This record gives sequence, C-alpha cells and structure tokens, in this order.
Amino acid sequence: VIEIRGLHKAYGALEVIKGVDITAHKGDVVSLIGSSGSGKSTILRCANLLEDSQQGDILFKGEPVKWKGTGLHRQPADPKQVLRIRTNLSMVFQQFNLWAHMTILQNVMEAPVTVLGRDRDEVEQAARRYLDKVGIGDKCDAYPAQLSGGQQQRAAIARALCMEPEALLFDEPTSALDPELEQEVIKVIRDLAAEGRTMLIVTHDMKMASDISSHVVFLHQGLIEEQGPPAQLFGAPESERLKQFLSATV
Ligand code: ATP
Ligand code: MG
Repeated sequence: VIEIRGLHKAYGALEVIKGVDITAHKGDVVSLIGSSGSGKSTILRCANLLEDSQQGDILFKGEPVKWKGTGLHRQPADPKQVLRIRTNLSMVFQQFNLWAHMTILQNVMEAPVTVLGRDRDEVEQAARRYLDKVGIGDKCDAYPAQLSGGQQQRAAIARALCMEPEALLFDEPTSALDPELEQEVIKVIRDLAAEGRTMLIVTHDMKMASDISSHVVFLHQGLIEEQGPPAQLFGAPESERLKQFLSATV
C-alpha cells in the first residue's frame, strides 16, 4: 500500500532523512522506533505528503507520487493525487487534534462529509459505528474537553477510520496519555492490527511494537540502522546502537 524508496528530506541545511526505504504491504503493521530526533515523525509526514521531501519516491498502491521541480524546489505536481493519498493514509497524532468547538460525532463526520463529499446520513451511521467500535459510542454529543485523554485519542482513531482509509498512520498515539489510559488506546490499536489493517506506527511502546508488528524499523539519525521481524529485532538485536536504545527504553 505504501512504499518509500530512497527518501531524503532536509529542513534548510539540516538533512534529517538521509535515504530511507520502507514498505508496508496490505495488512502489514510496520513500527518505527528510534530515539528522539531520529526522524520518525518526519517520515510519516512525508509519507502522506504533509511535508515535502527532496529526493526519493513515494508510492501509494504502486502509483508513484508525481513531482514538479527538483531538490529544494520539489513539490507534488497533482493536487488531486495529493488529496487521494492523504485521505487514504489517515493520520492519528500524539495530541489528538480534535476540533474543540465540535462534538465528538461532528469531529468524526467532518472530513468525510466536507472533504470527500459523502452522504451525510451514511457518514453519520458509519461515524456512530466507529465510535462504538472504539468504545465511546455514548460520547457522540460530548465536546472533546469533556472526555479523558484516552477517550479523546479513541475519538481521533474513529475519525481516522471514518475516512475509510487504505492505511492508518499513527504518530506516538499513546505518549500523551497516563499509563491506564494508554492501555485503552493500545487495545484499540491491537484490535485494528488483528483485523488486518495496514498501519505504520511510530511508537515508544516496545511491548506494543513487539506484539503487533509484522516488521520493525529502527531509525538512527535519519537512516535505518536495523530492521526485521519483531522477534529478531527485540530478541536478537545486532547493532550496538539498537542494543543501547533497547536497554535504555525497556
Ligand atoms: P521524537 O521522538 O522526539 O518525536 P522524531 O524521531 O519524530 O523525534 P522528527 O520530529 O522527525 O523526529 O525530527 C527529526 C529532526 O528534524 C530533528 O532533528 C528535528 O529537530 C528536525 N525537525 C523536525 N521538524 C522540523 C521543522 N519543522 N523545522 C526544522 N527542523 C525540524
Ligand atoms: Mg516524533
């Protein structure tokens, strides 16, 4: 579903992604781990074209992103393609990013109705179904501020699901939460993995990464230092940096 080949990304003179390849086939759960500043969030943001990159290919279902210009001037060439890719790679952020002035139901319905132009009644049914699925069907009429952090993040996941995306991108979905609230969100993510959803997850939660991933990528300073199935990465790490990282986080 998503393929990143030879990605390079710089902020001004600071090169933060230095040639990264990542592929998530249908049903794959790919986790990105690595220390702060290693480039995890940047890769997710480049993947769904929230961020420009300078070099490399990004493919969505085998279809390469079309660019105009090169290097620092490179930009996606086709706004329709950008919209198609962005709506199909739905992102869940660390800070939920719910709209404070809308109810939970309105939050979940907003993009499918206004961006995708779907039928309002059908979207509402789907939205209620997804809110039930993440366990907050009773919170439809509440406002974000009336929910706990874990409930807000589950609402954000329902909102991502309501786009009916091909894949979900999670950027540290549990790191703003207290440990108990973290578990409710992890359970939802586990269920999605068990359903065979394609997901790219940036996480600091090594237990979740090792339980649900099909593939784990360890990033160090904008490069893939080591990658493989979770049993291999966590059970028999080869790189010294990964060993150090794991002993510091577990
Ligand atoms: P964390 O675990 O702290 O979230 P990360 O692995 O997600 O870290 P990124 O946010 O991808 O790291 O950042 C990678 C590098 O890019 C860092 O050195 C960061 O300072 C830099 N960076 C990120 N966003 C910007 C920006 N908007 N402008 C300039 N530099 C940036
Ligand atoms: Mg980050």
